[in-house]
Amino acid sequence: MIAGNLENVRKRMREACLRCDRSPADIGLVAVSKTFNVDAIRDAAGAGQIDFGENYAQEFRSKAESLRSLNLHWHFIGHLQSNKAKYVVNDVHLIHSLDRLSLANELQKLAEKKGRTIDVLVEAHTTDEATKSGLLPEEILPFLRSLVPFDSVQVKGLMTMGPFSDDPEDARPCFRTVRLLQERLRQDAPGSMSFDTLSMGMTSDFEVAIEEGATLIRVGTAIFGQRLRAL
Ligand SMILES: *Cc1c(COP(=O)(O)O)cnc(C)c1O
Repeated sequence: MIAGNLENVRKRMREACLRCDRSPADIGLVAVSKTFNVDAIRDAAGAGQIDFGENYAQEFRSKAESLRSLNLHWHFIGHLQSNKAKYVVNDVHLIHSLDRLSLANELQKLAEKKGRTIDVLVEAHTTDEATKSGLLPEEILPFLRSLVPFDSVQVKGLMTMGPFSDDPEDARPCFRTVRLLQERLRQDAPGSMSFDTLSMGMTSDFEVAIEEGATLIRVGTAIFGQRLRAL
């Protein structure tokens, strides 16, 4: 079932690419495996999936550790408490949700200790929902400037979440805002940072996200099915 679901998502990605004249090779799929067990992840990996997303630090660590032999790419996509950052630094490929200086500071310390750099996306808050995290678009450039001293934390781009809605079109303005922000930051942000990665689009709206320039989509339900535990 998971292999078939993955094939179906890949097909929908190709179709979205055709509509907007993009190459499927330029868009990565992060399979969001939160709440699903390692057997489900193994199934997806067996079907060729390499990138997986988790949003709880301890769950991230336990899955990444038990599947280390598979050499998967582990993405941390949820809110990360600074005191839990230590659970992700060993295995994380990309943190999608950097949203504050105290977290950057903690990541810098942990990365230095491990002798590695940690790649991050800065999370942009683009809906008018009070519940979603992230920085307002106008806060992002000043935030990036304040990150310059943290040389083990490498900014690679931006992430956002669309609104909760049945209509994927409702997310389009959010995704477009991030795309325009990317262009501005390429001009104005500190030179050590890059903005090639745009993480946006989930099961309900990934096709719109691709049309608006996403380079990474984060898809859970369409691959693994409905989650029992609400996250
Ligand atoms: C759960 C989650 C997803 C995936 O959501 P689906 O609707 O199941 O595809 C994507 N991004 C984040 C940040 C999430 O927490």
